[in-house]
Amino acid sequence: MSPIKRVHNFNAGPSILPLPVLERAQAELLDYAGTGMSVMEMSHRSKEFEAIIQTAEADLRELMGIPANYKVMFLQGGASLQFAMVPMNLRPAGASADYIVTGSWSRTAMKEAAKLGAVRTAFNGEGENYTRLPAEGELSFDPKAAYVHFCHNETIHGVEFKSEPAVPEGVPLVCDMSSDFLSQPVDVSKYGLIYAGAQKNAGPAGVTIVIIREDLLARVPGNLPALLNYQVMAESGSLHNTPPCFAIYMVGLVLKWLKDLGGLNAMYEINREKAEMIYKAIDGSGGYYRGHAVPEARSIMNIPFRMPSEELEDLFVKEAKKADLVGLKGHRSVGGLRASIYNALPVESARALVEFMADFQQKHG
Ligand SMILES: *Cc1c(COP(=O)(O)O)cnc(C)c1O
Repeated sequence: MSPIKRVHNFNAGPSILPLPVLERAQAELLDYAGTGMSVMEMSHRSKEFEAIIQTAEADLRELMGIPANYKVMFLQGGASLQFAMVPMNLRPAGASADYIVTGSWSRTAMKEAAKLGAVRTAFNGEGENYTRLPAEGELSFDPKAAYVHFCHNETIHGVEFKSEPAVPEGVPLVCDMSSDFLSQPVDVSKYGLIYAGAQKNAGPAGVTIVIIREDLLARVPGNLPALLNYQVMAESGSLHNTPPCFAIYMVGLVLKWLKDLGGLNAMYEINREKAEMIYKAIDGSGGYYRGHAVPEARSIMNIPFRMPSEELEDLFVKEAKKADLVGLKGHRSVGGLRASIYNALPVESARALVEFMADFQQKHG
């Protein structure tokens, strides 16, 4: 057995990676596939790296069922750069884009887009501190919008869409899927563009995956700098310049791990089991633990919750850390606690948290 210590890792991002992925990377670190060098040390134009990036793309296409008329890109700058690249590329001069605001990330995406042109709010959950999703009929769209942007899972507020919002005919749906990417099956054909920073569910920080329907590339203005230009990046196979090679290699290992596990349906079952376990602990605590989001909007990836006082919350974080449960402090804008239970978090870690919660309540409740 490995003497190496691994904690129950509830970090929100960067976050836990599957142990078999880390072990494989470790085994291949000094000599990748007989090349006598690390993936970090080889040319991004080498046949070995070409195989790495092409296999990663093929495995992603297979796992998500990405249709042939979509391009896949591995970019840099994080999801935050996509907040700007989406309007730069897809919102023609003079046009406006619609934003569904269900939490901090979609709000930030809209603010970035507003710096460069017109935006409209199709829904704003801020008045209720982002505890819920828009109800049917609450969304007001501009039928001429360049696109509709939404965030599939609000990492900070723990609000997650259960299905895609119904948008006007012909208006492409753009989605920040950073924190629940690859956590469940997705019908990619409903989207114009999906983006996700890797460091929540798909790999280490440094690479952002963008999936775009090909016809939208025709909108890209010719005067954009190459690295901000979807057309340039898509046509070069993400190799216009040096890509984040090692991060892409790690994403490739995560995708293999997901395939071995049985794909996104199997992953979804496991994720639901973990989430249900923790929500049950919250709901069964007689109000000692209180979830932030309303039940219908609850995320299976990020679970923010509060306790009777800030003192107890601080004590919880401290005591949990002693029990090797780390990363549970909530985001400063919501306060309290947050359990991020991404794909790579084992069921045993969710169970350990639930047991700790019960113990803590018994001692301090
Ligand atoms: C983490 C996160 C971001 C920001 O990602 P960066 O890679 O740090 O830019 C954006 N959106 C969502 C939903 C996130 O979870």
